[in-house]
Amino acid sequence: MKKLTLLLITFSFLFILSACSQEKTKKSSDSSSTASRQTSETPGNFNFDSKTVTLNSGYQMPVYGLGTYSLHGKECKTSVTAALNNGVRLIDTAHAYGNEKEIGEAVRSSDVPRKEIFIITKLYPDQFSDPEAAIEEALDQLDLGYIDMMLLHHPGNGDVKAYKAMEKAVKEGKIHSIGLSNWYIEELEEFLPQVDTVPALVQNEIHPYYQENDVIPYIQEHGITVQGWYPLGGRGHTQELLNDPVISKIAEHHDKSSAQVILRWNLQKGVVVIPGSSNPEHIKENTELFDFELTDDEMMQIHDLDRGEKHDWY
Ligand code: NAP
Repeated sequence: MKKLTLLLITFSFLFILSACSQEKTKKSSDSSSTASRQTSETPGNFNFDSKTVTLNSGYQMPVYGLGTYSLHGKECKTSVTAALNNGVRLIDTAHAYGNEKEIGEAVRSSDVPRKEIFIITKLYPDQFSDPEAAIEEALDQLDLGYIDMMLLHHPGNGDVKAYKAMEKAVKEGKIHSIGLSNWYIEELEEFLPQVDTVPALVQNEIHPYYQENDVIPYIQEHGITVQGWYPLGGRGHTQELLNDPVISKIAEHHDKSSAQVILRWNLQKGVVVIPGSSNPEHIKENTELFDFELTDDEMMQIHDLDRGEKHDWY
């Protein structure tokens, strides 16, 4: 009888121990399956809960936004308004796009407080000879009080001088953060020693057919946030990319669109995305990136699509 009691006690103890360990395993796998697990693991220190990244300038920037390269006039205003109404808080423009004025108007007429919106604009190389005037022009055109981020659009004659003028404008409170666009490893190695402020952002062409897998880690290791232009391949190339069989299959598996898979792939690599769109449905779709997560295998399948195929000259 004594032996039977002892056996029963041992069995009960083992049962409780196994139940506890199963519960512990379930809890840890539950939490690891959520997209927020990415918070501490994603390169670039993205916070997938707040959907922002803290820049080396101390400012927070949304990790997805609207690109406005091809948007002008009324279409530009309605697209920016649609974006703001759908929770987009980052708008990318440039002097060269000729739409800073419309973007300023759309932001001013929105109910979203100015301080919640992050505006990026850029100085074009033909403005580098008088950067102070170019900065004033951007401030005037946008008419939003300050500029969240100003980039040099391309390397060019006088780029260091233009960057120094932006550094001065930061001290004067006209611009919050500064950075570069279309600067790669060689250009950065030459440029960085000549300036005082490490850029907060580098914006370069990045999509599954042109991945810059050497450049991205180099930039991130310098504490600089990376942003990808032409995330969907750029106009004229989007259909091929969106219909890519590998991407389409992953999209089908997650019940998402190909565009969402490509944008999510960027985010999981720590790359901020600014897809361009004038279609309110696409604009909304491009914000729904946080309710699914690509597996390591899916990330690798997209990684293998790289062809080093640039879709623009710069
Ligand atoms: P993109 O974002 O790669 O592609 C835009 C195209 O994708 C448009 O034709 C758009 O059509 C379509 N699209 C958007 N969302 C979609 C969706 N969910 N499903 C299907 N199609 C979708 O190219 P981009 O606009 O030229 O580039 C993005 C931004 O990067 C630019 O707007 C600009 O702000 C910036 N950029 C910077 C540089 C630089 O040198 N720094 C150079 C180029 C671009 P719909 O309008 O019909 O949605």
